[in-house]
Amino acid sequence: MELLEKLSVLADAAKYDAACTSSGVKRGFQPGRIGNTSSSVAGCCHSFSADGRCITLLKVLMTNYCVYDCKYCVNRRSNDTRRAAFTSRELAELTIGFYRRNYIEGLFLSSGVLRNPDYTTEHMISALRILREEYRFNGYIHAKAIPGSSPELIHQMGLLADRISVNIELPSEEGLTRLAPDKKLSGILDPMSQIRDSVFQSKAETSKYRHAPSFAPAGQSTQLIIGATQDSDKKILDLTQSLYRRYRLKRVFYSAYVPVVSNPLLPSADTKPPLLREHRLYQADWLLRFYGFKAEELLTDDQPDFNPLLDPKCNWAVNHLDQFPVEIMRADFESLVRVPGIGVLSAKRILSARKVSSLNADDLKKLGVVMKRAQYFITCRGKMLPGLRFSPGTLVRQLETAEKKDIPSRALDQLSLFDQTG
Ligand code: SF4
Repeated sequence: MELLEKLSVLADAAKYDAACTSSGVKRGFQPGRIGNTSSSVAGCCHSFSADGRCITLLKVLMTNYCVYDCKYCVNRRSNDTRRAAFTSRELAELTIGFYRRNYIEGLFLSSGVLRNPDYTTEHMISALRILREEYRFNGYIHAKAIPGSSPELIHQMGLLADRISVNIELPSEEGLTRLAPDKKLSGILDPMSQIRDSVFQSKAETSKYRHAPSFAPAGQSTQLIIGATQDSDKKILDLTQSLYRRYRLKRVFYSAYVPVVSNPLLPSADTKPPLLREHRLYQADWLLRFYGFKAEELLTDDQPDFNPLLDPKCNWAVNHLDQFPVEIMRADFESLVRVPGIGVLSAKRILSARKVSSLNADDLKKLGVVMKRAQYFITCRGKMLPGLRFSPGTLVRQLETAEKKDIPSRALDQLSLFDQTG
């Protein structure tokens, strides 16, 4: 098969992998090396930098041959699909060629399991080694560790990549057993522990010794498929929280399940990907990482799924009306950021602006507060917004109506999916 044909097969096969955004790694130009990484343009697949530029990683599989048979995957061994495999040199030359032509700013490399996890990982390491050592490539590399690979190979991979990740794929062990019978939870969690410890150790060594080898300086991430099983949003969010806490992950990525194969264990082939649900989970993830929320505050056993028509902070607030309204002129930072429509930045602005003047609704808008949400949950100098009419019984409907205007009709069409996927 011609190289470009391989590229078309293996780039297409990689499109379901979502775990591919900013790395945060900053590494300037080094004499004798090609490329750099910058936190402002860091390793995004078709993303936009602060100055509006579209930035790109070459996102490919080493091979889409796979000896595993994960039911949800287009590359599973029992699926009749076109197969290809790069040699290590082909992949390295393709990457450096694209980099020199300014098509890409880095590489995102994953793979199907060729023969066994160790054989595949050796193949990937060999490509990364040619890139780093022969071509002196200094740009961003995100490599997927193959579950079940030996610790020694994972270590070698981490010394060559900026970010390394192991996909957890499904929210429960039961789902994994049913839909990915060749994968073992321990084959996913053990490498995560190893990567956490190696990143920690490497940070300590590089801060002491300038030339100490750096292990995955952008840390590790993982990906969860949403909607392939009946797992609730609560199950997913609880898992996310424990992954952040136990394995110090930089990111958990959520990937709406796209039906590519028919199987009685999966949602039907005409099911649309639950993109709005994926979006709500990303919003909730943000609340865990930056707003001090805990998973158990956002969802409960009685309410295990988000209302898709409300953002998760609104969803929490309407269920905790006893904590509102919040007085804008007196509330502390922690209370302000819990108000729907007030973000971290606008809360900081409120804290400084209220030192010099009394704030009203117009001032809050200027400070970046989204008043269509916040108005129901705040007072300014003890008073709610003049003319505002609502009761606890009508509040959810009023917020949903306001929120609906921001949801693309394409996503609203998918709401029926929530009934099918829990
Ligand atoms: S291991 Fe499973 S998810 Fe990965 S490529 Fe093979 S079949 Fe697909």
